[in-house]
Amino acid sequence: MNKVFSLCNDVQIFPGHNRTLIVDLTKGKHHLVSKEWSELILKIDGSSKKELFAKSNSEEKETLLEILEFLKSYNYVFEVDKNVKELFKDIEMSFETPFIFDHCFCEVNKTNVTDIMKMIENQKSYVFGGFHFLIYDISDLELLPFKNLINSLDLNKNIEIYTKESKTHIFLEERNRNIIIHKADFINSREMRSNFYEKFPIMNIGMKQILESENFNFFHNKSLFINEKGDIVDSLFTEQPHIHMNIKEFNEKIDSINILLADKSFTKYWHINNSKIIVCKDCEFRRVCIDCRPPVLNANGEWYKEECTYNPYLSQWKN
Ligand code: SF4
Repeated sequence: MNKVFSLCNDVQIFPGHNRTLIVDLTKGKHHLVSKEWSELILKIDGSSKKELFAKSNSEEKETLLEILEFLKSYNYVFEVDKNVKELFKDIEMSFETPFIFDHCFCEVNKTNVTDIMKMIENQKSYVFGGFHFLIYDISDLELLPFKNLINSLDLNKNIEIYTKESKTHIFLEERNRNIIIHKADFINSREMRSNFYEKFPIMNIGMKQILESENFNFFHNKSLFINEKGDIVDSLFTEQPHIHMNIKEFNEKIDSINILLADKSFTKYWHINNSKIIVCKDCEFRRVCIDCRPPVLNANGEWYKEECTYNPYLSQWKN
């Protein structure tokens, strides 16, 4: 029987300018290898041992043996009969959740908290998959009904709260659900932005991130942003956000979600994944990098972002 090598289809290979990121989707492991290695890994897939070594010079042979040892040590490659290889189908990389908005990023303070609560109460369960609440200027007393509402939400909603250390006890008490609480000392949008800018980009090798980033911008896709004035905006992370609607209008209009979704400027970042952004498209982390900064169009009509803390051409991090 003619045996050929077959790479496991849950091992995803993302080549960058210099290096390549290999992610094992099922085990959640990742490896950074040279571009030369990733080119040879792709050559291994579907080749027999004989074919592989016959076409290689002595230096390549040595590297190939090293790579095979690496792949076998993690069970990333196996040998199968050639006619069986095609039965191993590639993983379907498309992705969809049942929610209209997977994330609602919402700044909460004493002036907009009532409208935000109304929005959450009014909407059916399939509208929001989760919430990130950034809590500023509001008393403990005013936060109590808000906390009770959050505790009553369906258990499949992801809830993350960013608040001052002095307010975390409110959300830690009497909980009947999981809430991720971040101690964040920002008191307004400006401080929140710089806090997030220091943290981002962050890397996430989770299944959702990798599948969604194939076609979508992981941070912006199906996200709703509400600022401290209660405006629904295109991003909380720009100095001059575009306002789509106020939360009062959102709560009053019966078809407000349809109005938002029909507005191309509301969904404009959803499809701009890192592979469509200059520099990021050459970065080995493009499929696992979550960046809160919205891309902008340059004079040549290309999407770009300010330099981040990683340079994919030098494979170097700042600081
Ligand atoms: S260049 Fe920076 S922002 Fe772009 S994908 Fe790479 S790490 Fe992320």
